[in-house]
Amino acid sequence: MAKEKILMIEDEKNIVELVKYNLEEQGYSVAAEMRGDQGLQRAIKEIPDLILLDLMLPGMNGIDICKTLKNNEKTSHVPVIMLTAKSEELDKVLGLEIGADDYMTKPFSPRELVARIKAVLRRGQERQTDTVLKAGTLEVDDSRHVVKLKNKVVELTAKEYDLLKALMEVKGRVVTREHLLDHVWGYDQSLNIETRTVDMHIGQLRKKLKNEAERIVTVKNVGYRFEIDE
Ligand code: CA
Repeated sequence: MAKEKILMIEDEKNIVELVKYNLEEQGYSVAAEMRGDQGLQRAIKEIPDLILLDLMLPGMNGIDICKTLKNNEKTSHVPVIMLTAKSEELDKVLGLEIGADDYMTKPFSPRELVARIKAVLRRGQERQTDTVLKAGTLEVDDSRHVVKLKNKVVELTAKEYDLLKALMEVKGRVVTREHLLDHVWGYDQSLNIETRTVDMHIGQLRKKLKNEAERIVTVKNVGYRFEIDE
């Protein structure tokens, strides 16, 4: 197996050396950049398997770098572990939901960092296997319950999410309104939910799916079909 590449963007030389030594000992290939802007450029150019990202950096800060990486189609899948100096900074990072996969507060033990890296890389591999449904620029990550359009998160209600999943799961087959009611609402006569409810929610869902809205095709008098690329 090829060595997994880790890019470290960190401006404290002693941390870079310590981490590099420990990761190389574990069989990883490690590159380091000390300026934020240069680190970002390198990440986009080389697409590493994982990025260790400091928060306070010259050139560009870790928060902006992480957001940029997560919004870039080429790098959005690359896991990012943020390295923060103080717990106050950690609160800031957590509050902003910048899309980092994990966080470590300095000072940290190299052993713990290695354990986190392994866990994050393993999660990424599991995720790639089969929990992600894709169609064009639309992506439904069921393990994380996240829907993305052109790599940007789309906020769906729980019902909209279940509807979309039910439509996408059957891979292009027609789904009846009754099936959707049963599947998404747990159809119960006493709830007095009408098939019209499905149509209303589909309408909302289409609005949110923007450029991919046309994939949800109405099959007259029957239900809906989700168009997939063969
Ligand atoms: Ca720093």
